[in-house]
Amino acid sequence: MFRDRSRPVAGGHREWTRQTGASGTPVISHRGQHVTAGRVAFTIAHGREPEGQVRPSCTFPHCVEPSHQADRLMRDAARATLAEVA
Ligand SMILES: [Zn+2]
Repeated sequence: MFRDRSRPVAGGHREWTRQTGASGTPVISHRGQHVTAGRVAFTIAHGREPEGQVRPSCTFPHCVEPSHQADRLMRDAARATLAEVA
């Protein structure tokens, strides 16, 4: 259901080929509700529900590659690591 709605693109990214929301965000209709494709991709890659917003950690616009999705916890962790190095 996820892979047949997206296709791999150069650089290891994945492009959404179906429905998007008003801002171009990839979405999936599930039991009458819109879920962003990023949330579904995140759950596929990490095996848990995301905390807060899911955003791609790469620079490809609206990338839906599961391993490129990051939630708030991961962004916070990345920031903490940067702060330790600095
Ligand atoms: Zn990507």
